[in-house]
Amino acid sequence: MRINVTRSSMPDFEEFCREIRPLWDSHWLTNNGDKLLELQRLLQAYLDVPEVSLFTNGHLALEALLEALALRGEVITTPFTFASTTHAIVRRGLTPVFCDIRESDYTLDPERLEELVTEKTCAILPVHVYGCLCDTDAIQAVADRHGLKVIYDAAHAFGVRRGGVSAARFGLASMFSFHATKVYHTIEGGAVATQSAELAQRLALARNFGITGPDDVVSVGGNAKMNEFQAAMGLCNLRHLEDEIAARRHVHQRYTDRLDGVRGLRLPPSQPGVDSNFAYFPLVFAGGRAVRDAVCEALAREGIYARKYFYPLVTDFACYRGRPDFDTSRLPVARRVSDGVVTLPLYPGLADADVDLICRIVREAVAHA
Ligand SMILES: *Cc1c(COP(=O)(O)O)cnc(C)c1O
Repeated sequence: MRINVTRSSMPDFEEFCREIRPLWDSHWLTNNGDKLLELQRLLQAYLDVPEVSLFTNGHLALEALLEALALRGEVITTPFTFASTTHAIVRRGLTPVFCDIRESDYTLDPERLEELVTEKTCAILPVHVYGCLCDTDAIQAVADRHGLKVIYDAAHAFGVRRGGVSAARFGLASMFSFHATKVYHTIEGGAVATQSAELAQRLALARNFGITGPDDVVSVGGNAKMNEFQAAMGLCNLRHLEDEIAARRHVHQRYTDRLDGVRGLRLPPSQPGVDSNFAYFPLVFAGGRAVRDAVCEALAREGIYARKYFYPLVTDFACYRGRPDFDTSRLPVARRVSDGVVTLPLYPGLADADVDLICRIVREAVAHA
């Protein structure tokens, strides 16, 4: 038997069939159909923001957001993220400037932020990581001092709240990914959440060729619309979201109970006042890459596939290595965490016995490494 790092949540087959049945009657498959409009309304309520723009995936949502804001110059961001964050910046003709992360929760370190601001800086693009939230107040304070826009990669933060405040309410806008492997998904999909109606208007243009009416095209937009089948999957999955997060919490807690106190490994950070979505279970090994890789190999021998997420750092990707315009020198924390990290399998329905087996393998591998 094979255990992967994640397994996509599926609604009941009959429930999905009921949801897509009207599409056979209407023949309306995309372009702001009923399913998309209903999902948009429900997500605005769930995320507690007045504007949610739905996209065919999270990455194109992020590119559209950078396009809609007409940013130019440097964007301060984190190297401890998925390729998408940095690629979006570079593909929009902007220059990423990498800020180190903090040890406490692996998010962008606000203490290191201000020294990176130059006259070319236009925006800050931090990433909420593993269900932990960035220090949004400290980041906003720096942004306000320098007149910078803050946009969040919130791909890991769907459903996360701090003091009851939705992750979607921080900064000027947040991108969410609804990829099949995320806590909440629409097969492929994504969204930008914002409180700015004007920004939402510009996102609608970026998403649909700049078309405003049958005879009018006002900007050079691309195509990144979510279709009705994606929205239908989203409607089904949204009904079960609270149960899914509760099931993830159970797995997360079981791992924590069984790995707490093991020498040489650090458990996932937890943040006071934050309701996590339990998206991932990252372990960081003090012994670094050698121990981490030994643990991964021990798991793989039993058919268990954990993931080195995020390793390597974005700045070490072949496509970015050695770029003279990227300063990648001052990232000691990101480098250490990336070298030591592995995320264990975590999804609703992962059996208690499998969690226990994984913990036993991890404990033995660490002891022998
Ligand atoms: C998944 C993810 C993305 C990209 O989202 P897609 O929907 O897969 O395009 C961007 N950033 C982070 C941190 C992610 O985990």
